[in-house]
Amino acid sequence: MNVSHLLDTLNQAQREAVTAPPGHVLVLAGAGTGKTKVLIHRIAWLLATKQARAYNILAVTFTNKAAREMRTRLESLLNDSSQNLWANTFHSIAHLLLRKHWQLAHLPQTFQILDSDDQLSVLKQVIRNLELDDKVLTPKQAQHFINTGKDYGLRAKEMVAEESDVWRNQMLNIYTAYEARCQQTGLVDFAELLLRCYELWRDNPSLLTYYQQRFQYILVDEFQDTNTVQYNWLQLLAGHSSQLFVVGDDDQSIYSFRNASAANLAHFNQEFPQVQLIRLEQNYRSTGTILEVANTLIACNEQRLGKNLWTQASAGEPIFLYTAYSELDEARFVAEKVQAWSGQRREMAILYRTTAQSRLFEEEFLQRGIPYRIYGSLRFYERLEIKDMLAYLRLLHHRDDDGAFERIVNTPKRGIGERTLETLRGIARQKEISLWQAAKQAIETQELKARASSTLTTFLDLIEQLNEQVKPLPLHEKIKQIKTHTGLVAHYQKESKEEAQRRLENLDELVNAARQFEQRRSNLPPTDDTENPLTVDTLTEFLAHTALEAGEGQGNEWEDCVQLMTLHAAKGLEFEVVFLCGLEENLFPHQNSLDESKLAEERRLCYVGITRARRYLYLCHSESRYRYGNREFATPSRFIREMPTELIQAVRLSNSTVSPLRSWMSSSKGKLHRGERVKHNQFGEGVVLNYEGQGDYARVQIKFASGNKWLMMAYAQLEKL
Ligand code: ATP
Ligand code: MG
Repeated sequence: MNVSHLLDTLNQAQREAVTAPPGHVLVLAGAGTGKTKVLIHRIAWLLATKQARAYNILAVTFTNKAAREMRTRLESLLNDSSQNLWANTFHSIAHLLLRKHWQLAHLPQTFQILDSDDQLSVLKQVIRNLELDDKVLTPKQAQHFINTGKDYGLRAKEMVAEESDVWRNQMLNIYTAYEARCQQTGLVDFAELLLRCYELWRDNPSLLTYYQQRFQYILVDEFQDTNTVQYNWLQLLAGHSSQLFVVGDDDQSIYSFRNASAANLAHFNQEFPQVQLIRLEQNYRSTGTILEVANTLIACNEQRLGKNLWTQASAGEPIFLYTAYSELDEARFVAEKVQAWSGQRREMAILYRTTAQSRLFEEEFLQRGIPYRIYGSLRFYERLEIKDMLAYLRLLHHRDDDGAFERIVNTPKRGIGERTLETLRGIARQKEISLWQAAKQAIETQELKARASSTLTTFLDLIEQLNEQVKPLPLHEKIKQIKTHTGLVAHYQKESKEEAQRRLENLDELVNAARQFEQRRSNLPPTDDTENPLTVDTLTEFLAHTALEAGEGQGNEWEDCVQLMTLHAAKGLEFEVVFLCGLEENLFPHQNSLDESKLAEERRLCYVGITRARRYLYLCHSESRYRYGNREFATPSRFIREMPTELIQAVRLSNSTVSPLRSWMSSSKGKLHRGERVKHNQFGEGVVLNYEGQGDYARVQIKFASGNKWLMMAYAQLEKL
């Protein structure tokens, strides 16, 4: 491997980072400055200069997709396979370690991963078992309470009860009962993966030493989005001898709702010895205009570490602003632009704040036959039919899986009623056994009415027979058999034709996914990682995979599809064309995020969205939107107002442009902001309260001494004071 070739494509600061002498390194830099590139080149450089073996490297990425890309890029940089290199998300790495060391982690070998939905249903059960009212203490609240505790590394027993805080104490009770329940049934939720792994090392010094010696080089992308337990985990692993190389951007910290904190960047700089701080300032991704818009917007945030971001690229195209009259119109506009685009479709991304927004785009694209792909919203493995099928697999695998039992005991309908289930839950609670065991007992002891008993027996027999039947089959065959023998197909066919077809196609896709999974598993080459973690059965592995894979890998990677995703899912990615949709007050910024600190995070999210674009950026907002069953008037997002007006050009659907932009946000003397003082010929001095409409119809509300007035911007002749 030619080492200089590795450095050729880097600028001075990047090269400095890649070739930094041994020690900890923090690369703090804005979007598109090559942080991820530097991280990958650092690994390649360590390997090429023989300072490290792949075996000694641990790379932590934010998504599974990023991990896959990293491996592919390394392979092409080094012309070599990077099989031995551990590059994965925090969750996947923790999962692998717990699988390997399940005994030390006090877990059953076949522990199952609870995704967010499953966690809620377990919590519901726990709350009921405690005889609490799940309308007052909701599973959602409990989930948030517990996950937050775990994200901060706190178990129930480590959290202090407060006499006066009844709610908190109840939550602690739920947390304690939930921990016991998960332990008893071998269930591990996402936050638990990390906390458990942290404890595994903390409580087993010799194991920790082994990994500290092994992972001499630890590299972390998107460090601004680490939470406390991840930070502590890294600190523990790094010990005194490993070298950490972390890259991040405080302006792109967008996961504080999951207890991540950009403050970890500063902590890292202070707490790790002799950190080499490197800043990258040149952006290679976007045009000058896109970058300027991003810089201006993010400058509205206070408390930034602050950075200087520039580009050599030309100004490029203006930013386009489309004002739709409805959300349907917005979707139509985007679809029309997509159809008019002559480049690759995968170079176009549609970004939105909430997952629900994807539906209209999907419908529009389906109608026009535009291939699209959704990332990270409704995850493939979270779809109803997929969850049903997985529940069958889970129950076949592990009869005491209550979540799976609850899900399929009456799917398809077999006449097992809620009253029967209540009886079973009662027995399970009282005797501390699983629902499956409770069902068997209830039948034996004739606690149920004859009819209930007989339908339940049929169900138990079905599972047992199915188990015998599919036991010797490979995984994908198992799924096929279950599909036909359980009546699931007929069950879905009762729905509308399209719905049924979609569900059956998804089940076929699951068969494919299982087959691919098996193939990948059997093709794994021998590694010099002597403790191959894949020691459990395929089914257990597959079930873990379905929980951990964030739907990123579904669909054909190579098909040329438009990409749809939430802004959160777009982190780290880049596209030639980006549509930032639904830029409206209460949607983006989101209505739950209007206080100062949350607003700053929304603004960072907008910054992330803008900086995904290489050449074209379309901002879209609608003047009205259907929400909560009503059509509501929508005000353009304050973020549009915070961007430099002169760089934005309004566009119409039929490609006719209105230029220059004369909008609700600008007067002849420049931008107007809420709270700003202005003067009017007739009414005198006043303060801007509000705006609405745009173009010739823009109106502004002003508080004058004589009272509040709405004025047409086009005629008001306001003077800024
Ligand atoms: P983000 O903050 O969005 O994650 P980043 O800082 O990780 O961005 P990269 O994704 O690594 O940035 O790089 C952005 C783009 O710039 C990529 O297309 C990358 O290939 C390109 N790039 C980075 N450095 C250089 C360089 N020195 N010369 C040419 N292109 C570069
Ligand atoms: Mg990156």
